[in-house]
Amino acid sequence: STIGEALVSAAERWGERDALVSVHQDLRFTYSQLLEQVDQLASNLIALGLEKGDRIGIWAPNCAEWVLTQFAAARVGLVFVTINPAYRLHEAEYTFNKVGLRALVVADKFKTSDYPAMVEALAPELITSAPGRLKAAKLPSLEIAIKIGGADRPGWLQFDDIATRPADRSELASRAASLDQHDAINIQFTSGTTGSPKGATLSHHNILNNGYFLGITLRFGPADRLCIPVPLYHCFGMVMGNLGCLTHGAAMVLPNDSFDPRLVLKAIEKERCTALYGVPTMFIAELEQLDRESFDLSSLRTGIMAGAICPEPVMREVIERMHMSEVTIAYGMTETSPISFQTSPDDPLIRRVSTVGRVQPHLECKLVDENGETVPVGTPGELCTRGYSVMLGYWDEPKKTADAIDSDGFMHSGDIAVFDEEGFGEIVGRIKDMIIRGGENIYPKEIEEFLIDHPKIEDVAVVGLPDERYGEEVCAWIRLSAGQEASEEEIREFCRDQIAHYKIPRFIRFVDAFPMTVTGKVQKFLIREEMAAILG
Ligand code: ATP
Ligand code: MG
Repeated sequence: STIGEALVSAAERWGERDALVSVHQDLRFTYSQLLEQVDQLASNLIALGLEKGDRIGIWAPNCAEWVLTQFAAARVGLVFVTINPAYRLHEAEYTFNKVGLRALVVADKFKTSDYPAMVEALAPELITSAPGRLKAAKLPSLEIAIKIGGADRPGWLQFDDIATRPADRSELASRAASLDQHDAINIQFTSGTTGSPKGATLSHHNILNNGYFLGITLRFGPADRLCIPVPLYHCFGMVMGNLGCLTHGAAMVLPNDSFDPRLVLKAIEKERCTALYGVPTMFIAELEQLDRESFDLSSLRTGIMAGAICPEPVMREVIERMHMSEVTIAYGMTETSPISFQTSPDDPLIRRVSTVGRVQPHLECKLVDENGETVPVGTPGELCTRGYSVMLGYWDEPKKTADAIDSDGFMHSGDIAVFDEEGFGEIVGRIKDMIIRGGENIYPKEIEEFLIDHPKIEDVAVVGLPDERYGEEVCAWIRLSAGQEASEEEIREFCRDQIAHYKIPRFIRFVDAFPMTVTGKVQKFLIREEMAAILG
């Protein structure tokens, strides 16, 4: 079905249950109220002249309005484009024009981001235009600018106004009936972990099914309350979070507008959340917070750790210290809607902490070598996925799409994985991050998992640096636990006799933070660039 149909059905089945709770805004909606609000907003989007297939962008941190816009756009067949809230002028201009945005919804000022001012800087014509009639030289497709909250500004429509203004609902039904589940409904950007983000075009069918299946594995039902600290602008929030809940009647709980471990734990306690999502770095920060302060997490049961390699020691701590006995690991990528592998609470514990589980229903996966030949069980190869979840393509990038999806329909991930006899997958790293030192293949993951067990080390990122003699050398960036000090020699001593000599980091740097995407992933290409600059 379409996302709009799924929302109507959720309101019929679970109307009185919580659908959306924005803890930091103190707002809550049941499924009936959510549908009512969404339909009101959707009807007003039609009244503004927005046609099926028009692109509507959102540029905002997590908030209830974000979710309303996501569903209202889906209800009337607008392609919802999610824009990284950390973007600045140059990136925003490029992205808005790349997808040809006709409408844009932005947050008001947030921390150091003044979204309305940035749009006005790109389109000074806004100030003298009638609302909804922008004609800007630098943003030629943009006509409608909407902002969430804050004082009125010339040229802008206020979100609250169009969300509450009485609307003629007569066109909504015929518009909804004209949609097809295979229509494009989202352009979602990849994280930008390995370079520039790419815009994946996804259909209702792609993402709604993905949310449904991962919710089955989590045993989601209408009594579940999912805490979503991950950014909504990314598939982890908007698909795994919002659509995972929608398809099972669970509540979406937004604890914060930008990640804050304390607010996450407080929200779980206050809202009695049963599930929690996060990338490994978020769970690491929450565990650190638990060292300082205690919270009642007894309502928690399950959740997902995903987005980057999930270190086994961190998984074990999450199970033991966060009351998440059924927590799962998932693997996916934006281009596959996103999840293709997930552990199940029924799997043996060792598999649940050290693999990404088995392939999701209705998907096929294979591992291939450099020549595209399938490798035997137990041999590392590039993970490729085929099935309902593969994106329609990268928006306006036919060449990149053809490079990523082969003629048999397999999406090539750029990740190296190994399967065991029973089909459990282990992600060993990204092809781009693999270190080849003197002919030895080194997976940074192995060294990272070893070092993270050092009592003084909180987090670590390992990369390869060019070396004349060996081709590449191992470099570790280390973030020590609060108040700790360590020497390079001490770290190397810890490695000696424990891991092979060629894996012992030749370069060690103690840092306070790693370069990170907004989705919480370490951007290793930036570490390599910075080390190149330091080492000359
Ligand atoms: P970009 O494609 O822009 O460089 P990205 O690949 O990080 O960024 P996403 O689509 O957000 O963008 O993330 C998908 C990637 O995240 C996967 O290709 C994989 O490298 C990594 N990933 C996701 N889940 C896991 C997991 N459980 N274990 C290891 N890696 C994971
Ligand atoms: Mg990627």
